[in-house]
Amino acid sequence: MRKIFNFSAGPAALPEPVLTKAAKQMLDWQGSGQSVMEMSHRGEHYMSIHADAQQRLRRLMNIPDSHKVLFLQGGATQQFAMLPMNLASTGQSVDYVNTGQWSKKAIAAARDFGPVNVAATSESDNFTNIPPVESWSLDPDAAYAHICVNETIGGVEYFFTPETNNVPLVADISSTFLSRQVDVSRYGLIYGGAQKNIGPAGLAIVIIREDLLDRVRPGTTSMLSYKAHADADSMLNTPPTFAIYMAGLVFEWLEGQGGVQAIEALNKEKAALLYQAIDNSSFYSNPVDPDCRSRMNIPFTLADDSLDKAFLAGAESNHLIQLKGHRSVGGMRASIYNAMPLAGVQALIDYMLDFEKTKA
Ligand code: PMP
Repeated sequence: MRKIFNFSAGPAALPEPVLTKAAKQMLDWQGSGQSVMEMSHRGEHYMSIHADAQQRLRRLMNIPDSHKVLFLQGGATQQFAMLPMNLASTGQSVDYVNTGQWSKKAIAAARDFGPVNVAATSESDNFTNIPPVESWSLDPDAAYAHICVNETIGGVEYFFTPETNNVPLVADISSTFLSRQVDVSRYGLIYGGAQKNIGPAGLAIVIIREDLLDRVRPGTTSMLSYKAHADADSMLNTPPTFAIYMAGLVFEWLEGQGGVQAIEALNKEKAALLYQAIDNSSFYSNPVDPDCRSRMNIPFTLADDSLDKAFLAGAESNHLIQLKGHRSVGGMRASIYNAMPLAGVQALIDYMLDFEKTKA
């Protein structure tokens, strides 16, 4: 057993049994005499790993036949550009809801390709809430409507799926992927980087409704075309084979934990404990509206920020690492993805209470 609890926002902690299995298979995958990293991506061994990972993800998320799964590279950031290139025709407007730093980046990238309507924003409230849906000015002619389901930096999460009628709903689920159940049929496209709940960095996953594939702008180079990737079953070029293999092991682990429904219940419990500890104290605080507080990324500040360094140093000596908040908001941030056990959250709470007693 490793001794530390890692609260990194991503790349993030992976389940220990997954790392142990990968270590065991490192030199010789299932008697093949090869490491997964050394396999031809077109060979039968890797092809079975690729297909297995995809099937497990489809099962875990209950992905309907109407939607394709793509394993891509370039991170979620590349998706910020691929979305308008693939889904909006030249000059067609796109809708975005701005709930934090990742929404802002997605909006800025979309503006390179055409007009963007920011249908709602919580920027004037310092991104501490989700604007009420009734106030959103959605455009019925938009190519799509985009939300960031979980703002990894601000710790703001949607617990509802907005109704966008005939306009396809597009969602960045980078930091909430597989942490809770999602009705995929409600979305035109879902995407995210893998390096939080799914596996190592280097893999991005896109789940796209098939009828949207044909919207790709003429002249789009194949590497940036969903249709080209879908037609090639994510094998247009050499895919990130090792990252996909690791994702497959994480999917297998998650199925063994009882799937998304079971992990969602645990994630609710973990987050509730930590928010309760924060709310019961006058020393720690979290500014986000209770109805949209993230279950994955929990930012908090100390009443006296001159104690931040001492808090982090004490945390490290208690084997609690990577708790420093994002540079844009300061304070602390505890990312408690699927791989964070309840014991890790309890250890953090115990440490916070001790620190408060000695310093407050
Ligand atoms: N969206 C969200 C919500 C994120 O948290 C991140 C990364 N932290 C990104 C997009 C960007 O992902 P990547 O670094 O994989 O490009």
